[in-house]
Amino acid sequence: MLPYADNHIHSSLCGHAIGSPEDYVKQALKTGLQEIGFSDHAPMVHKPMPHVTMSLKELPLYQAMIEDVQKQYATQISIKIALEADFMPGYENKTEAMTNSYPYDYIIGSVHFIDDWAFDDPAHREYWKNYNVDDVFRKYYALLRQSAQSGLYQIIGHCDLPKKFGARPSLDLSHEIKETARVFKDSGVAIEINTSGLRKPIAEIYPDLNSLKIYHDFGVPLVFGSDAHDPNDVGRDFETAVKWALSAGYKEYVIFKNKKIEKVLPLL
Ligand SMILES: [Zn+2]
Ligand SMILES: [Zn+2]
Repeated sequence: MLPYADNHIHSSLCGHAIGSPEDYVKQALKTGLQEIGFSDHAPMVHKPMPHVTMSLKELPLYQAMIEDVQKQYATQISIKIALEADFMPGYENKTEAMTNSYPYDYIIGSVHFIDDWAFDDPAHREYWKNYNVDDVFRKYYALLRQSAQSGLYQIIGHCDLPKKFGARPSLDLSHEIKETARVFKDSGVAIEINTSGLRKPIAEIYPDLNSLKIYHDFGVPLVFGSDAHDPNDVGRDFETAVKWALSAGYKEYVIFKNKKIEKVLPLL
């Protein structure tokens, strides 16, 4: 059985995704999804970053755009309104105010920056040469833990994103992942199985299977997301994601509403 919901969908407001919300909804209907959640890149709270996220001024427009399709398609599909918000240490209060500005169904917390370096941005890929890969992963896991403990998020997104361009730690970092899983469980956040990694140079789901097993063993709830920046990617590779989740030991996944787990659904 395919998952009922795709929780991670972008919109053209972030400046690097294409298509209208309606295009994403139509594709979701075509693929048989019963629910999608728009979770576009929330405004950066430390400085505006056009082409990376929407601006603060665009939050009302984002809300109106998604409410429009919610109303229009109310009898056909459930549509949630969410955000993918960067975790920026030191800016938790501003992030909290921003993520409370509308009644979002959930907030996906994502770490895309280490020391102000957007390590997953193709435009900044050359800076990998200045870093030790193991250090990047260690810092990344520390930030994931901090993001979960901040209380700002219900879901933590793409939990081994530094592998995007092919980097892999040379050391066994499973102790870091176990510590991260323990913090996720204690903080009550869910982990996302994100299929967009399959469309990137690494060609692998986020997170890798060994990590996902660890998150499962610690009892961290699971959600599904395509991270679609193009309507054609809605629900993409969810068959593969289900196999990945089952191999990791998961038998169920969750969906959110009003920042709470709304339903626990079977994977089989
Ligand atoms: Zn992301
Ligand atoms: Zn995303």
